[in-house]
Amino acid sequence: MTKANEFSNTPFWHDDIDLSVATTSLEQVDDDYDVLIVGSGFTGLSAALSLARAGKSVVIMEAQDIASGASSRNGGLLGPSFHKLGLQGLIDKFGHDTANAVLQESLKGFDWLLEFIEKEQIDCDLQRCGRFRGAIKQQHFKSLCVQAESLAKALDYPIDIIEKSQQHQEVGTDKYQGGIVYKKDACLHPAKLVKGLIGKCQQAGVTLVAQAAVSHIKDNYAGFTVTVEQRQINAGAVLIASNGYTQDVTADLKKRVLPIRSSMIATAPLSKELMASISPKLRTHGGTDRLVFYYRPSPDGQRMLFGGRALSMLEKPAVYLLFLWESMLNLFPQLNEVPITHAWSGLVAYSFDHVPHLGLNNGLYYAMGYCGSGVARANYLGHKIALKMLGEDGSTVFDQFEFPSKCFYSGNPWFMPAVLRWHSFADRWGF
Ligand SMILES: Cc1cc2nc3c(=O)[nH]c(=O)nc-3n(C[C@H](O)[C@H](O)[C@H](O)COP(=O)(O)OP(=O)(O)OC[C@H]3O[C@@H](n4cnc5c(N)ncnc54)[C@H](O)[C@@H]3O)c2cc1C
Repeated sequence: MTKANEFSNTPFWHDDIDLSVATTSLEQVDDDYDVLIVGSGFTGLSAALSLARAGKSVVIMEAQDIASGASSRNGGLLGPSFHKLGLQGLIDKFGHDTANAVLQESLKGFDWLLEFIEKEQIDCDLQRCGRFRGAIKQQHFKSLCVQAESLAKALDYPIDIIEKSQQHQEVGTDKYQGGIVYKKDACLHPAKLVKGLIGKCQQAGVTLVAQAAVSHIKDNYAGFTVTVEQRQINAGAVLIASNGYTQDVTADLKKRVLPIRSSMIATAPLSKELMASISPKLRTHGGTDRLVFYYRPSPDGQRMLFGGRALSMLEKPAVYLLFLWESMLNLFPQLNEVPITHAWSGLVAYSFDHVPHLGLNNGLYYAMGYCGSGVARANYLGHKIALKMLGEDGSTVFDQFEFPSKCFYSGNPWFMPAVLRWHSFADRWGF
């Protein structure tokens, strides 16, 4: 492949936004905090903001650079994320009332984030662009229609059903057998949202510490003693906000999530005509493929950003670039001559029951398991877990679910590459 000769392996978003922020060195941090947060993505920042504004002293420990996990490298597709199990899947698993409540909570999280961005006046290129989801098989189209109509009815969430004969008004490919437009879905610039949140946290007095991997957490009966490098810091409460990057320091949480590498590529700027031939309404897009491909125009409408699961857990940009490029060309052969300028990836966390989780585990607060749809969920549930820590009403429908693991699974997803290859094979051959 010639398109991969020259590409950057940092996220496209980082070209626009300098995420380097003023941090406190480990030597300078205090000995005691009300709350210590592990991880500086949306979950950690959102929780830190709510806690600090409520008067708590808060320190965030980040193993890498601040916000360098999934939160500043995702696709920025924003919606209530209804579709992981689908309405019927949810009903089969949890019953009608709980299924409805899960969907309502998802919508609440989405609305909460939109309101938050507006109230806090965070400039993050928010666009209410709507999302087109294409059916790769005729039977997928039928079930998408049934589900979308029930969603629209149950939640008053506007949709349009798009027959195959009309789909070129939405997307420039014949690979789909029709699809659904979720009219209220949105998109944003994730690194700008992260940067805005960091600024708000700093104004509220949150201490940010980078290159500070938490290696041990010990219950000292009055709170916790947290070991970070050579330092020991006391905290009244600890929040684990490490999602797909959860490590052995919280082994009991690690075995409850399945980390999956999600990867993205960005094309060079396209002509207006070429972009219009792919995404005439500049919406976000996805399909019903098992490998969950998603794509969207960049905020200036010039580039196509295309993402999907990486087949390997290893960070190998040249490999996932090739796979994504071929998958993109399968949908849009008209992009054949367009160079790829960026290829990057990050880790997401799936829970075994497909719903996010938050609560207390061995005395540690946590929120994680967003199943690849964490822009709204991580921000909303970060706020909710902060409310719980403050003794306020942080209840959600997710409180009623156990956070399950699987027999013999300790947090090492050695089997995932084989599972993903099977999904890729099944997508290709139409199983
Ligand atoms: C390529 C990609 C595309 C995506 N696209 C979308 C999308 O379009 N829409 C959507 O809704 N979601 C998307 N997601 C998912 C979304 O980005 C995540 O669900 C969300 O950002 C999770 O936020 P978080 O704060 O919980 O975790 P993260 O942002 O991943 O932050 C976790 C942090 O914890 C730190 N950490 C871990 N262990 C330790 C330790 N021991 N000590 C200190 N720090 C530690 C890590 O270094 C990391 O920075 C995508 C994800 C990826 C990777």
